[in-house]
Amino acid sequence: MYRFVRTNFADEFVLPQLRQEKDEWEAYCYTSECRKAMKLGISLEEYRKARKEEEIQYVSERLGLSPEEAVEHEYDKLPRSVLYIVKKLTEELGRKPTRDEIWVKERKDLDDLKKCMMSISLEESDNPECLAFRYGNLCDEYIVTGVAPNREFSRHLAECSECLSHIMESRERFLNSKSLNCLTADECDTIRISGFGPRDRKDHIGTCYHCLTLFRKCEKEHLSGQLGSECLTKDTLHTIHTTGDIPEVSKEHMKNCLRCQKAAEKHKDIYMDAIIPLPKLPKTRFKSIRDNYKDRMTT
Ligand SMILES: [Zn+2]
Ligand SMILES: [Zn+2]
Ligand SMILES: [Zn+2]
Repeated sequence: MYRFVRTNFADEFVLPQLRQEKDEWEAYCYTSECRKAMKLGISLEEYRKARKEEEIQYVSERLGLSPEEAVEHEYDKLPRSVLYIVKKLTEELGRKPTRDEIWVKERKDLDDLKKCMMSISLEESDNPECLAFRYGNLCDEYIVTGVAPNREFSRHLAECSECLSHIMESRERFLNSKSLNCLTADECDTIRISGFGPRDRKDHIGTCYHCLTLFRKCEKEHLSGQLGSECLTKDTLHTIHTTGDIPEVSKEHMKNCLRCQKAAEKHKDIYMDAIIPLPKLPKTRFKSIRDNYKDRMTT
């Protein structure tokens, strides 16, 4: 005697798998928060509290709301990348949009962007050598000085008309975008020494092609330059990666030296990887049918 038993394969396998994915995400986020708290030398609770306040502050500034309003509409729980949508919808609707309205609009914007990207034929050369050339370290140097930094560079320019016209355009744009307000030679020297742009010049650098290129060039020169007498020694870096502690003097120096800041961070990460390793990023399971199980996931 045989009996046929109807089972739903998907129900049996999909739900537990999706629950596992959810657990993995929670573990991932928890560990990542612990690491950030540890990096700042504060407890997890303090870190979460500070993050929450920071987020409310950011959202209310961005949207021109009081902190209470931001919390009331739960805008502080939205990713920062969608705040522009909240702003736009508020103007369009003449009232504060709901979370659903925000997500619908976000979906639509994303679809539009995809369509737009598909309609642009890629004029960029996809030859990896050309891409490395155009986005490599040496390009900025040529754009600023007009002199090929090495033989390899001149060879590519001589052989590749696309890259040649690309870099000539950039050079011209660099020369033409210079204004009276641009970075001075002294300011460039400061960037070469510290790796940081002057605080009050951030806005200008961000919007001026001339200064952005100059800044990138000086920053690279800083990062590949000679260590100063106050720079972190190998011994100090070793201490950081074995104990996680950054000496106070080093912290002071790091405020004015991007290279040491990066080095200390790298070594602190090595230390943290040993103490609190970050789990692997969870895989997204059952992409095509997961939406059908959304309701049952909450129960
Ligand atoms: Zn090329
Ligand atoms: Zn400028
Ligand atoms: Zn240094």
